[in-house]
Amino acid sequence: APTLDTAWTVRWIRRSAEVLAANRAALNTLDREIGDGDHGENMDRGFQAILPKLDALPDETTPGAVLKLVATTLISTVGGAAGPLYGTAFLKASGAVGDAEWVDAAALVSLLAAARDGIVLRGKADEGDKTMIDAWTPAVNAALSAQAAGTGVDVVLLAAADAAARGAQATEPLVARKGRASYLGERAIGHRDPGSQSTSLLLRAAFDVLAT
Ligand code: ADP
Ligand code: MG
Ligand code: MG
Repeated sequence: APTLDTAWTVRWIRRSAEVLAANRAALNTLDREIGDGDHGENMDRGFQAILPKLDALPDETTPGAVLKLVATTLISTVGGAAGPLYGTAFLKASGAVGDAEWVDAAALVSLLAAARDGIVLRGKADEGDKTMIDAWTPAVNAALSAQAAGTGVDVVLLAAADAAARGAQATEPLVARKGRASYLGERAIGHRDPGSQSTSLLLRAAFDVLAT
């Protein structure tokens, strides 16, 4: 199985920035349906702000240090709900991996679970509230099942990304109970939650950069 080292972490974040830029309009469109239309803009701004900081990282650094840099940048550059929520997720993920040089399958599950738990701590959403948690929680559960079955980090990440994608799609029929979309009541039905979609994109990027 591939190794989740610092280079992988940096590739993950760079790819995330690319994918979020490419999906900026699509995420804005989702947020226009049930929010204020800025989710793509928010995510793109935050991840673009990380790129020059990645270039300036010292040669000897760790996955945890990269995740912490992502966290502090998102918290300071992204307004709205998603900035502090994703910021907390990356901060808790950083804490979960500590100063290890690489992330094995068990640590990967801890990283994902810590990220999800951080979002819940901050935003208090339950599963089914039509938020990004509806992508994160199935991803954590799928990652845990894959890891418990003894698979490598590649299979764990693929399971997480696939579960997040299904979770994002499964927000479509839901009524929202958290965030701006909760003001819409039944009018939110039929629209995908934008934050669940950005989570799905982020976790897919984590898998996609494994082999490169
Ligand atoms: P804002 O709503 O402030 O404009 P964004 O549009 O960037 O912020 O982010 C909206 C996304 O944030 C939603 O699609 C949802 O996934 C997520 N979100 C909002 N509130 C919460 C919460 N309390 N817990 C988890 N996720 C939330
Ligand atoms: Mg918004
Ligand atoms: Mg906003």
